[in-house]
Amino acid sequence: MIVQLALWLVGGVLYGEDRFDRLMRDILIFDAHIDTPRYIVDEGYRLGERHTYYELDIPRMREGKLGAVLFGIYAQPQDYAPQLWLPRALECLDALHREVAANSQDMEFAYTAADVERIHKSGKLAALASLEGGHLISDSVAVLRMFYKLGVRYLTLAHFRTNNFADSMTDVEVHGGLSKPGRELIREMNRMGMMVDVSHISDKAVLAAVEESRAPVIASHSSVKAIAPIVRNMPDEVIKAIARKGGVICINFHAGYLDAAAYDVYIRNRPARDQEIKDVLALHASDPRRWELVRGIQRRYFAQMPKVSSEKLLQHIDYVAKLVGVDHVALGSDYDGISGMTPAGMEDVSKYPLLVKGLIRLGYSDDDIRKMMGLNLLRVLRTSEQLAQR
Ligand SMILES: [Zn+2]
Repeated sequence: MIVQLALWLVGGVLYGEDRFDRLMRDILIFDAHIDTPRYIVDEGYRLGERHTYYELDIPRMREGKLGAVLFGIYAQPQDYAPQLWLPRALECLDALHREVAANSQDMEFAYTAADVERIHKSGKLAALASLEGGHLISDSVAVLRMFYKLGVRYLTLAHFRTNNFADSMTDVEVHGGLSKPGRELIREMNRMGMMVDVSHISDKAVLAAVEESRAPVIASHSSVKAIAPIVRNMPDEVIKAIARKGGVICINFHAGYLDAAAYDVYIRNRPARDQEIKDVLALHASDPRRWELVRGIQRRYFAQMPKVSSEKLLQHIDYVAKLVGVDHVALGSDYDGISGMTPAGMEDVSKYPLLVKGLIRLGYSDDDIRKMMGLNLLRVLRTSEQLAQR
């Protein structure tokens, strides 16, 4: 017994290193939600250059072995006048396409699950697009069809506000979940092979979307309510429904979504923070350094939140894996959409290897880890394509 234990310990240390290195050599890490494109439009942010701010660029993707990203295209309904929602979304999508083309030695646009695999095998990084909020399509299924042609592979049914398709979980209930046009929209998405994203929408809306959709649905960036009981997180009942349909819950890294104590401070300070940001942007409208001033404000408020560890993030992943199985967990970091509020140790996309190490430590097999880090999300993308009726 003692000999066995000693062998296991020595073997574990040696094998552990080998196993991690071997996994990292070809693992596909696929993140369902990263919001970088707006920085390309607003600040001329270049994906090819290394930065000391924001959370994604190509050098840091390489370092963190992040192989594929569904980039978020959005215009928050509360920040833009309705007539700007669609043009702003198109500008962000255009910026993403242009940056990918400008970095073609490193990155390629992916339109299918097979593209993602091929690009990953070739040693390049795969970029895909997604649209956050049904308000961005001018209530037009035709507009959504054009977005599909432009590479958009999921639509989040609603963002922070309820729209004509679905109730947002952070706004008033108007439809009791989904409206009739919301259900029709899902059928059209199924027909095209576009994934249905149920993050941000009310629990009733998620359950209705799961019932309406022929394909599995994804929660592109949502965490666990049983661990952090805040409005944006998902209760067990909803997680189970998504899993029963074959879908994935992509865990959000936002420190405030992972930990309720951090959320309380974040929410209490948010009005003051947002006002300061508004004032600085108005006062320095033509100053190219204004975004650095904004980041300074965000950092100052973030420092007031209790620290959230990467262990907490692992807890959310582990919880979903134990509740509904490893086939239904994925990653949706929300990097570049969370104003720098990351868990300690997970500051940017170079840090994913820490999660792999954490999952090894929690006792997951190589296959399990590959699934949760990317293959589950790829499976849902592929299933959506297979169920499409073109
Ligand atoms: Zn979001």
